Amino acid sequence: MRTDFSAEQLAHPPTAVAEAVIRKCVHCGFCTATCPTYVLLGDELDSPRGHIYLIQNMLERDEVPTPKVVQHLDRCLSCLACMTTCPSGVNYMHLVDHARAYIERRYQRPLRERLLRSFLAWLLPHPGRFRLALALARLARPATPLISQLGWAKPIAAMLALAPANVTRKATRTTPVPAHKIGRVALLQGCAEPVLKPAIRAATIRLLTRLGYQVVLTPGEGCCGALVHHMGKEEQALDTARKNVDAWSREIDGNGFDAILITASGCGTTIKDYGFLLRGDPAYAERAARVSALARDISEFLDAADLPRSAQTAARSDGLQSANAHRGASLLRFRRDLQHTSARNRGPAWRPKSRQSRAARRRCHRYRQHRLRRADWHTNRYAYCAYRRTG
Ligand code: SF4
Ligand code: SF4
Repeated sequence: MRTDFSAEQLAHPPTAVAEAVIRKCVHCGFCTATCPTYVLLGDELDSPRGHIYLIQNMLERDEVPTPKVVQHLDRCLSCLACMTTCPSGVNYMHLVDHARAYIERRYQRPLRERLLRSFLAWLLPHPGRFRLALALARLARPATPLISQLGWAKPIAAMLALAPANVTRKATRTTPVPAHKIGRVALLQGCAEPVLKPAIRAATIRLLTRLGYQVVLTPGEGCCGALVHHMGKEEQALDTARKNVDAWSREIDGNGFDAILITASGCGTTIKDYGFLLRGDPAYAERAARVSALARDISEFLDAADLPRSAQTAARSDGLQSANAHRGASLLRFRRDLQHTSARNRGPAWRPKSRQSRAARRRCHRYRQHRLRRADWHTNRYAYCAYRRTG
């Protein structure tokens, strides 16, 4: 893609990186087929190609982003499905991360949005706070229909509806020593996953110990920083990354690790990118690159490990569970939400049932079935890819 950045703009290293990414895009549109927001909304501006156009315009003109641009970029889930289909190797992740940091610096969001985003950035990266919030959400759940009637409280009602019915016990912090040790690995403790799905960590520790790996839960590490990074809060994300690099570097310099394992694919992507994120910090660049080189998704690690034959079946099912836990669960949620929203977003006009003609109702139903078949196709595709990675 042709770009029109000035020499002064390109002197700023993050803008130079963004420009190099934009130049790689050839507008082929292959990425639109795997982008869930495009599949759901059918709007080019909600596709990766549309986002690249919006970001290029915003950066080239060096202007304050408009609410429309912010809305389209906010809709991006950062699932990075587009990167897996792009034949030109466009690093959409670095581009959208830079755009989000730019928006956070230049765009003044409405007060309510700012308060909500700050609250989420304060709450989600801390398991203790998050667990307490889920317990309170459970008490407030019966009032959800009432809260959703208040226009300003709709996002809160949506979050209450998503909160799990039961708050799980604290994730395990003990790791048994294997009978025949063949290696030593660190396991990311993370933030939201141990609160929402502590069984994933427990299953991973059981599996690795059975295979002969000593699992270390490194003191001092926590949230990978992806949550705040995706909100454009760059400094907060870098501080979190530095804290984790410090914690793991102490262990690497001490007893050493074979790998740093991650059971949530989004966190793994961020940790593998620490080397890039901290490349401009002389005190951390080298150590961050060392941490990134050791980071592995659990399914990647098991795929490369020399497993005894009897352990392969267990590894496959546990690995598949971890690999799919993040992406598969969100796709299934996406499918469920689609049942309720697709007819309103696009296609035949939606009206309350009592005021719809029978033909209009049939059209809505047919359209919903079509979108659901598309969502099923994506769900099956990811499950199959995860199976191929772990099988
Ligand atoms: S697939 Fe890659 S090159 Fe093609 S439009 Fe999407 S980002 Fe650009
Ligand atoms: S990261 Fe996901 S949601 Fe965002 S543009 Fe790419 S495929 Fe679409």
